[in-house]
Parts: sequence; C-alpha cells; structure tokens
Amino acid sequence: MLARTLLLAMVLAAPALAQPADLVILNARVHTMDSGKGPDGGSIASAVCVRGNSITAVGDAQTAEKCTGPTTRRIDAGGRLLLPGFIDSHMHAMGGAFAETGINLSLADTPEKLKAALLQLREANPGTGPIFARGWQNHLFGPQGPTSAQLDAIFGDRVVILGSVDGHSDWFSSAALKLGGATAATPDPEPGVSFFERDAKTGALLGTAREGAGSFIVRKLIPRSPADYAAAFLRWQPLAAESGLTALFDAGMGAPTEADAYAILDTLQHQGRLTLRMFTSTGDRGEADDPVSRLVQLKADFGSELLRPTAVKLFADGVPEGHTAWLLQPYQDKPGFPGKPMMTDAHLMARLRAAEAAGIPTHTHAIGGAAIRQVLDGVQKVRAENAGKPGPQKTGQRHAIAHMDLVDPADIPRFAQLGVIAQTSIQWATRDPSFDNIAAFVGEPLLESAYPIRSLLDAGVVQSFGTDWPAAAYLSTWKPLVQIEVAVTRRLPGARSAPPRNPAQAITVAEAVTGLTRSAAWQLGAESQLGSIEPGKRADLILLDRDIFTADPFTIAEGKSLLTLVNGKVVHQDALLTSP
Ligand SMILES: [Zn+2]
Repeated sequence: MLARTLLLAMVLAAPALAQPADLVILNARVHTMDSGKGPDGGSIASAVCVRGNSITAVGDAQTAEKCTGPTTRRIDAGGRLLLPGFIDSHMHAMGGAFAETGINLSLADTPEKLKAALLQLREANPGTGPIFARGWQNHLFGPQGPTSAQLDAIFGDRVVILGSVDGHSDWFSSAALKLGGATAATPDPEPGVSFFERDAKTGALLGTAREGAGSFIVRKLIPRSPADYAAAFLRWQPLAAESGLTALFDAGMGAPTEADAYAILDTLQHQGRLTLRMFTSTGDRGEADDPVSRLVQLKADFGSELLRPTAVKLFADGVPEGHTAWLLQPYQDKPGFPGKPMMTDAHLMARLRAAEAAGIPTHTHAIGGAAIRQVLDGVQKVRAENAGKPGPQKTGQRHAIAHMDLVDPADIPRFAQLGVIAQTSIQWATRDPSFDNIAAFVGEPLLESAYPIRSLLDAGVVQSFGTDWPAAAYLSTWKPLVQIEVAVTRRLPGARSAPPRNPAQAITVAEAVTGLTRSAAWQLGAESQLGSIEPGKRADLILLDRDIFTADPFTIAEGKSLLTLVNGKVVHQDALLTSP
C-alpha cells in the first residue's frame, strides 16, 4: 500500500513526464526576448523544451531533465546563443529567389566592377536567349540612368533586361526595347512618376524606365512560369534557414502573378515543403480595386499555420534616386519639384476606411517626408471618424509605414500616438557609395538624418526591421544579422574604418534583435505565438554560431544559425552542431 501511494505521488509530482518533450535544447545561453527586464531586454535561461510545434518549458538544466522522456531528442548547445527566430517585417521572397543568379550586381560599386560583372553575366548565359538579372547600382549613372548603348556594347543585339538594386528602374538593351515594342511614341504611364528616360529634344528612349513603365517589355520577353518560381523558392529556403530567418512578411508577391504566388505557397504547405512562416499581402491595383475584400478572401482560402495572408500593401511614393519619393521640400537638383504622391488623399482614405472596417492592417511604402505625413494624417483621420464605433474599428488596426527613410522629426511622436508601426530596412543606413548620389538630389543634411531609429525608439514607437530583399537602396540582402550589425555600427558590414552614418541614431544589439523578433511579431498580429521564447508560444528558434550580444559588432553580419526550428521542426542543422 505504501509503495503504491509513493508511486502515485511520484507520478503526480512529475507531470512533465506525462508529456515528455520531442526535443530539448540544453546548455544554451537563451535570450528569451520576452517582456522581462533582463540586461538585454528579456530573461536569460539555459534550456528550452519543445513538444509538437510549441515551446512547453523554458528554464535550466533541471527543467531540461523534467522534460526529458525515453524518446526525447536532446541537443547540447555548447553554451551558444539561442534566440527566437528572426522575422523579416518586409521583403519580397518570391521575386528575390527568382532573381538570384549567383552574380551579385549590387556589389559592383565602380563602373569597372560593373563591366566585369556584366561580362561574367554574359559568360554565364551563353547562346542567344534573353538575359534577366537585377542589382545594378544607381550611383554609377547620371540622373537619367544607364543607356541601351552601354548594354549593347557588351551584349550586342541580345535581349538584356536588368533591374536596378532598388527595384524601381529597369535597364533595357536596344533589342529589348525594339522587340518589346517600346519606341519614342510609347506614352509614359504617368509622367514624372512612371516613365521612360528620354532624349529631351527627340523623345527617343535612352534605355532606362522608372517605376514599372517598362514592365510590359519584361512580361513580353522574359519567360517566367510558376514552376520556375517554385523551384527558385525551394532553392532559397535552406539559405534563409541558415541565416536565422524563420518567418517573413512578403510585401508584394509575384510568381509571376500574385495568384500564382499564393498557389505555389499553398501547394508547398500541403506537401510539407514550406519551411518558412509566410505572412503575405495583396497589392492595390488602382482606384477601382478592392484589395481589402481580396485580402479577406485570401485569408479564408489560404489562411493556415505557415501561410498567413495579413495586410494590404499600398504605395504612397517611390524612391529619391528616381526623383519619385514625395518630399516635404523640392529636390535640390529639380527646383520647385518635391515629387508627387502616388495616391490621392481620397484613395488612401477609401483604403484605410475599408481596412479598419474589415479588421485588416495596411502596409504602406512611404519614403519621402510628405508621403509619410500623408499616411499618418490618413490614419489619424480614420481613427477620428471611427471613435466610439463598435467592431474592428474600436481598437484600430496595426497599420505599418514601410522604409521611412526621410521622416520629418515632427512626425516621429505621431507613430506612437497613433499606434502606427515604423518598418525600416536598416542595412541601408550607411555612407555607402549611393549616399553622395542621393545627397545630390535631396541634399546632404536631409539624407544624413535619414533612418532615425534611435529617435523612433526613444519616442516609444514600435519599430520593426525587414530587408526589402531583393530591393535595396544599396545593400541587397535577406540576412537578418547584416541588419543587426548595421543598426549598431551605421556602417557597411565589416567596414570598421569607414565613417559612420549619423552615429547618434545607432541602437543596441538587443534593440535590433527586438525589431526582428518581438516588434515584427506585433506588426503581424502574431505576438501571442511568435517573437519571444515563452511556454505556449510556437517553437521557432535559432541557435547562432556566436553571441552577438558580446561579439565584436563588426563580425555580427558574418554569423549564421547552426540550428533552426520552424513550428517545432528542425529545418536546418549545421554539421558543426552534433547531437547524440
Ligand atoms: Zn518592398
């Protein structure tokens, strides 16, 4: 009787044994990034237990013992840093994976290097077929961009189409313009916003098109099937896992169409081949469109654990290097011209009203100060209209403004007041070679003050980080650790001796990690499941090869994940990390 009672007591005292973990990671330096008040912005632990897709316990060696059953897999982390998986709050994964050629034109920062890269591209693409790549740097050319003649000199009469690194300009060979059906008589979709660069006297096309004006040529000449996109995405997923990326917000998908992208991701998810958590969007196709209703339908059709339609993507302006960003003051090299809005106030308000009523957040590209202010004014107005109304409007949606380069200081506190999330690609905040080029357009003092991430955090703004890959002002990358290094150093990765860009706006490693975990999860409405290591949350975890909190900041970007879990599944394990 006594023995039976004792046995019963032992079973009751060890409830963890009733549900042993599938996986225990022990002997780690766990930065939970929870809301605890530890020195690095959260609590510190040494063990994490995972069962199914969830974290069941966070603690120490004793916790690990309690979680361990006969079939539990145990991984000794060797004292390495365990973090919640990084969440990129704005990128274009399908397009990025498709344009990966292995030749990174964005690293060609001189005309000589670009020529060498183009010769490499020609060699990698023998034959007579069309060539498509992206990544060329705007700063290598004048305000009218590169010319067809420059491409023809290397590629002869071949069809060559090269997207700029920022994704807002396309460079065409003469054959591409001719076979694509573009001539001096081709009208610009929207002069000053979406247009072909032309000879001022004759109107002849010079070879560069801005903001999608030449997209009809790309569609006509570059064969792109959904199968090609799916294959490229599958090739890229393991690279993402190795970089510590476990989730991302795709801010504009085409594979080649948005519908194709959803079909591909849905298929991969059903086949069990989707190893990244994909938060997705739908684009705005003009005045007559209803993207909010479409997003609601996409949620109903595809919403699932790993594929989550989340927000409506809007565009308030373009980019300064194309003079398409909408500034609060005229461009320095275009007196009297501050750029133009891409949406009327009425259009923006229609989208915001529909979004608030449906409980859908918007995610708006805004780079110039005027564009950023337009969106803030819109959110303020819709909140005032809806004050006191029941339904989703009551609490307001988590609208985000993406990029945020040239936000006016007066508007910074408004983000906190309105609950608008500031989304930034912080790897651009360096004095890279594009700096002087863009400074000539908008003025150096304004450009130096761009990306005020310190001021935004100090004002209590929720700030998330995402790379915008493959688009870039200069540095095109999907790697979260590159963002963290630049957020801290305000220099290009590893550029120890380079002058920093506005170093007063640097933030700490912990703050940068928060922007890639907890704050990104908040933007996506997923903070109850993601963004920190806590019991009950999803097991999206990364074990890094170095402690970025104590490492030389100039080595952070070289880091990688040795073990990546998404939804409780190991999706990447480095050979360096052995487990019994
Ligand atoms: Zn983007």
